[in-house]
Amino acid sequence: MGIVAIWTAVIMAAVIALAALVSAKPAGGVEILDALGRATGIVGLVMLLLAAALSARVPGFDRWFGGLTRLWKTHHRLGAGSLILLLLHPVLLSLARAGSGPDAAVQLLFPPLSNWPIWAGWAGLLLMMAFLAPSFSFFGQPDYRRWKLLHRLAGPAVILALVHAWQYGRTLPGDADKWLWLVLAALSVGAVAWRFVFSRRIGRLRYRVEHVTAVANNLVELVLEPAGRRRLKYDAGQFVYMAPFDRELSAGYGEEHPYTLSSSPDEDVLRVAIKDLGDASRAIQTIRPGSRVTIEGPYGKFFPDREPQKQLWIAGGIGITPFLGRARHLLARNRSVDIRLVYCVQDEARARFLDELHAIAERIKGFEVIPHFFYRQGPLDEEFLDKRVPDLSEREAFVCGPPGLNALARRLLIGAGIGRKRIRTEEFELL
Ligand SMILES: Cc1cc2nc3c(=O)[nH]c(=O)nc-3n(C[C@H](O)[C@H](O)[C@H](O)COP(=O)(O)OP(=O)(O)OC[C@H]3O[C@@H](n4cnc5c(N)ncnc54)[C@H](O)[C@@H]3O)c2cc1C
Repeated sequence: MGIVAIWTAVIMAAVIALAALVSAKPAGGVEILDALGRATGIVGLVMLLLAAALSARVPGFDRWFGGLTRLWKTHHRLGAGSLILLLLHPVLLSLARAGSGPDAAVQLLFPPLSNWPIWAGWAGLLLMMAFLAPSFSFFGQPDYRRWKLLHRLAGPAVILALVHAWQYGRTLPGDADKWLWLVLAALSVGAVAWRFVFSRRIGRLRYRVEHVTAVANNLVELVLEPAGRRRLKYDAGQFVYMAPFDRELSAGYGEEHPYTLSSSPDEDVLRVAIKDLGDASRAIQTIRPGSRVTIEGPYGKFFPDREPQKQLWIAGGIGITPFLGRARHLLARNRSVDIRLVYCVQDEARARFLDELHAIAERIKGFEVIPHFFYRQGPLDEEFLDKRVPDLSEREAFVCGPPGLNALARRLLIGAGIGRKRIRTEEFELL
């Protein structure tokens, strides 16, 4: 629903801009190039401002998009689309002027410094290129911290682009240009203000580490108790952004990272199981009980409100956490279900929480846990799934694991006749 609304807004902006330009009756190639140059500027900026508005990360808002991962994907597509259009914008306008000679084109692109709104546009575009370039896979997997730091350039880039549009936006009838930029600017400024000011004051809940269980040498489960008056309300399988405040941590002090809640929403405490996957998650293995953390969320919508009758869960490694939270919740509700959990790990030693999941399966009618050991059984395949889940095609599937397993599982499930819409995947990767 949210995704449809966003793209409808973009298409409407394109249609309105083109309609306004066509009504000016372009007489030939030069006018058409000029009209396209203006239209790319308008639609590119609309996309940039919508991308900024989506960056707010207001808890609950992501549900309209089917979860935060899908919301971020829309944000990335808007950003990439706006960069392409805004790069085309000066090229098309200068081509339109080139008919009057190369000097006219150069003059349009690089006027005297006193024509500062044009230079504001250029500066905005250069900043955009700097902060968006690392997001393109062409440049390889970006370092998360550097990427985040560079993304701060988005604020000045948006302001400079707005200054430029405010001065030159005369394409739509009457004051429509100005109203368009005012409304979209208010939305994006509101979003950024929420993210960097209000969410820190009212969006983050205070919790304290009550207990740390070392599940393995590279995995801890933290039990968190509320340290303020407000408690987090969430659904099983949702995730939060957690920032730890333990001065002894060797990395990641005060840095927020997304972690799935492995607790049941019925519990008084929150649980998060954290695997050592990098600096901050390695350091957190040593967090001390009693230390303070902040929690922002909940986010995500892995399990739908309407629970499907027959379910297949496929987990890989630490991707077990949303299923663990859901299984603990099912146990608390004590109802019979029809769920098969295929838990893919390398070997028995790495099958974290397997004993607890088996114990839950013994107590919930219709819940079966099926471990799959890569070293012994090779990659997950049709034969294994057919044998262990004979009514596979009748099930709705939920998959959470490393990207390779997610892709393999999707292929196998589609091959088994499960429609794409009946397969949900959760990715532990937001970039
Ligand atoms: C929706 C979601 C749920 C997750 N749930 C769990 C869980 O239950 N248990 C668990 O152990 N891990 C979970 N993760 C993964 C966890 O967030 C990363 O392992 C952790 O952020 C890595 O940070 P680092 O500094 O240790 O490693 P780095 O080496 O800095 O990062 C490793 C990778 O993690 C990603 N990453 C790093 N920092 C962030 C961040 N702040 N936000 C988003 N992505 C980041 C980057 O893509 C990077 O490539 C989840 C991730 C997502 C997106």
